[in-house]
Amino acid sequence: METVSFKGGLKLPVVHGGGDRPIICVPPGEQVIVPMKQDLGPECEPLVKKKQIVRTGELIGQSSLEHGACIHAPVAGKVTDVTKSFIHFSGKRMSAVVISREGPVNKARRQEQDDFLSTLVTSGMVDFDKDTVPLAVKLDEAKLNHVDSLIVNAMDVEPFFSSRVRVLSERIHDVMAGISAVKDYLNIQQVYIVLDEQHRGHISDNQARLLQDVTLVPLKYKYPQAIDYLLVKAILGKEVLCTIPCRDIMHSQDIDGLVISVDTLASLGSKVVSTERILTIRDLNGDLNENVHVQIGTPIKEILSACSYEVNPEARIIAGGPMMGQIFADAQMPVTKDLQGIFILNKEQLTFNKPKTCIKCGLCVDVCPARLLPFMISGFVEKAQYDQAQRYQLSSCFECGCCSYVCPSNIPLLHWIQFGKFEIFKQRSKL
Ligand code: SF4
Ligand code: SF4
Repeated sequence: METVSFKGGLKLPVVHGGGDRPIICVPPGEQVIVPMKQDLGPECEPLVKKKQIVRTGELIGQSSLEHGACIHAPVAGKVTDVTKSFIHFSGKRMSAVVISREGPVNKARRQEQDDFLSTLVTSGMVDFDKDTVPLAVKLDEAKLNHVDSLIVNAMDVEPFFSSRVRVLSERIHDVMAGISAVKDYLNIQQVYIVLDEQHRGHISDNQARLLQDVTLVPLKYKYPQAIDYLLVKAILGKEVLCTIPCRDIMHSQDIDGLVISVDTLASLGSKVVSTERILTIRDLNGDLNENVHVQIGTPIKEILSACSYEVNPEARIIAGGPMMGQIFADAQMPVTKDLQGIFILNKEQLTFNKPKTCIKCGLCVDVCPARLLPFMISGFVEKAQYDQAQRYQLSSCFECGCCSYVCPSNIPLLHWIQFGKFEIFKQRSKL
């Protein structure tokens, strides 16, 4: 298939590299911290008490959502704390279970249920994507919408990251098993695997031969090429009428094509309980540039230590990448299912420019891949006119940050948009 692309977005300076870095396993250390909310669903209810002994893969958090993902112990050991005041990298306070590890790290096979969606729920499966939707919710929506095309996303959401192409390259049998399970459940007719055109060389001919009945689609490198809605438009040529959720509100959309990330399918195909994550950890210069396989709950400091990387105390650890990430409070923060990667910026690489007045240059409009008017939305949010911001489709922003990146007046457009979404969510929650 020809190389395809989408309107808007950014051609960032060359940020490749890492696609040839094999995935390395990093042990979780002596203690793991498992937050009770790791996806877009509601917070799970902790099912364990202090001093309780747990096995790897044991259910420790129950979702109240019908198709929500449960949470399992990523290691065997003793529960040393069940706190209600853990602060997630998003800044939200939530419950978390702290487990002191005892014994080696094992994989826990998932238990197959009669119903496929129940298997996904009880094994804690989520789509490891920016929105991190429970997988059963996503497949249920797809079934209701009679979706017949599956797009496997082998591109990382953020620039600099390369873990997904490594998953495709190293775990192709698991990926194909995951694709097969989804195909059977939804009666999928057409499967596409999309990857960055510059990563095509990381898939050998032998590996490509294993991709039976699958169309490999190279995408021109442009940020944010890995967003679901852009992929559906670029590959299927279909508009997605979507309401991107304000924070914590589940997806509600008419969908023509189902997009699932390649690491999710590898996890599904491997038939284990979802207690692991594969992600990139790197810094701006590339001195740190690894793709790591870790247990959920592993503190970032354990990964840095395994990579022999010393973080400058004044550096910033960013959860999720340079464009859409959040600054971590410290390296004790654990890996979660909704963590897309880890990016480190040194003090001299951090820039803070004072915002100036909007000069109506229109650059933010030109780059917005969602075809919004970011300066209008941001202006309304700044004046607390949330209804007006919503009229300009505030909730359709997928928070890529392109508008803020290009603004010559340094207006933190994305910040205002996120703030507006949060305020609207608060107002709706009171209804
Ligand atoms: S890019 Fe900045 S200055 Fe230009 S229109 Fe948008 S908000 Fe205004
Ligand atoms: S308004 Fe949203 S979707 Fe558009 S460029 Fe800004 S952050 Fe991206």
